[in-house]
Amino acid sequence: MQGDGLAAAEGRYESAEALGGGQPVGGQRLADKATALQLLALFTLVALLALLGQAGLVNQALTKQQNRYRSEIETLRGQVRQLNEQVEQLQREKERLRSVQYPNRNGLITENVPEKKTAYLTFDDGPSENTLAVLDILAQYQVKATFFVNGNATDFGRAAYRRIAREGHALGNHTYSHLYGKVYASIEAFMEDVRRLDELIAEETGIRPDILRFPGGSNNRVSPGRGFMVALSRRVVEAGYQYFDWNVDSLDASKATPDKDLIVNAVARQSAGQKAVIVLFHDSPAKKTTVEALPEIIERLQHEGYSFDVLGKSAYAVKFL
Ligand SMILES: [Zn+2]
Repeated sequence: MQGDGLAAAEGRYESAEALGGGQPVGGQRLADKATALQLLALFTLVALLALLGQAGLVNQALTKQQNRYRSEIETLRGQVRQLNEQVEQLQREKERLRSVQYPNRNGLITENVPEKKTAYLTFDDGPSENTLAVLDILAQYQVKATFFVNGNATDFGRAAYRRIAREGHALGNHTYSHLYGKVYASIEAFMEDVRRLDELIAEETGIRPDILRFPGGSNNRVSPGRGFMVALSRRVVEAGYQYFDWNVDSLDASKATPDKDLIVNAVARQSAGQKAVIVLFHDSPAKKTTVEALPEIIERLQHEGYSFDVLGKSAYAVKFL
């Protein structure tokens, strides 16, 4: 650089002399001028170096700043991830708490409301000896009902399915096993359990059920949660079933064997003022008082102007979700 500067200075001097017509100059003055030019070149060089140096520092500072922002962005992204996880956790908890409301009377969905006052008596968890007693009473009153049964492949169970169908009642699927941990393990597990019972019932009666009730109802507290039940109920409907909850709980499952009067009163109280009622009963082995309460319940409902009907795919439906 320095050499270049001098060469340039000399070049300028030579060309000034070559042009002629200028002031005659002495050797000393030429030397002074050359020194001055050298100094100027040196100064320019130092200034350039300083500028370059400063630019380097500025670049370094900028890089540092960039790195700082990058790590701040990473930190914030981490916090966003954590907050999103918290949001999801809270949403899951919210759904769980919602599913705990049992039954959610305000959120009832009803479909195909009948023209006249109608009562749909439903019996879950059979067949058992009590199923036969219930069938006797229904026959006596000439009332038809709906049985949401479980799997029982014994001669007794098979005969009970046949009798229910033969006497004009409806057979609904309440899962083969009714084991919460099994049927609610996954949507596929549920469907498989349901299929198994459908096949048994079809084999015995020639009728493949197209109505279903979820063990514990659609808002049960034992499945993995409301989101699961929403997906499962959608799947069940896609598979061609209608599912049913209830709007009158006989409370016969409030303990193993509740007093007969508790059952009678629960049905009377909850059916008051309702146009259509789906009454939840159980005909499992312990439910002797359900059988005892049934004649009085039928008579009271008849007195209130209800007629009785069976559930079917296009019948009145009550759903919690
Ligand atoms: Zn059940």
